[in-house]
Amino acid sequence: MSATQVESLIDDLASGAVEVVDLTQPLSESTPVIKLPPPFANTPGLSRTEISMYDDRGPAWAWYTLEIGEHVGTHLDAPIHWITGRDGADVASIPPASLVGPAVVIDKTAETESDPGYLLTVDDLEAFEAEHGRIPERAWVLLRTGWGSRAQDEAAFLNVGENGPVTPGPDVEASRWLATERPISGFGVETVGIDAGAAGGFDPPFPLHNLLLGAGRLGLTQLASLDKLPITGALIVVSPLKLVGGTGSPSRVLAFVPR
Ligand code: MN
Repeated sequence: MSATQVESLIDDLASGAVEVVDLTQPLSESTPVIKLPPPFANTPGLSRTEISMYDDRGPAWAWYTLEIGEHVGTHLDAPIHWITGRDGADVASIPPASLVGPAVVIDKTAETESDPGYLLTVDDLEAFEAEHGRIPERAWVLLRTGWGSRAQDEAAFLNVGENGPVTPGPDVEASRWLATERPISGFGVETVGIDAGAAGGFDPPFPLHNLLLGAGRLGLTQLASLDKLPITGALIVVSPLKLVGGTGSPSRVLAFVPR
């Protein structure tokens, strides 16, 4: 982008020709967090304690101490989150250019409405490209499912049934395709994790974590407002904390959308 194009983007933001859309779920003590079955350890959600509140501890200022898991709310998965990516990047080492790129939205809202455990397939990905063109380099592929409408209701959001969680995500071969067939920066979802709810029983288990993070690419979960994005043509900006050694980070995720 030339200086002129940056100036034109600034003008477009001022005029509303380009809108900034917030793809982040609100983060609070009630934000749903993933619940792993025994014997696995679980993450805490958000909690905070006052340091001072305009009082004797600090008469003119308020501030809190946070406790929060790295993988809480709208958050990034770094390659080192998964054992297959353990020699890859921590959050602080991710090249910033990977955190900005074209957003490509694959809409499986209708499919997810009729089948909450809907599995995205290679056929779906190829059909998407036949209709909308090849997924570009450095793209963030976003799986739109409508699941974000459940984000304030933990039971509906996690959707754990008798046989475990039932949430949409890619199947094994789609996970392999995303990790190896296109040079994408990452894959984002509206659900609590990048893999489907049933993926613990796949071979390999959690194939998108295994293959995508193993390939040095990134994950993004618990996204909001994907219905406000065009299928192609938006620019996404992912802003995790620059956490040294971090396996993931709560993130603010914004999109520039032409109107
Ligand atoms: Mn995660």
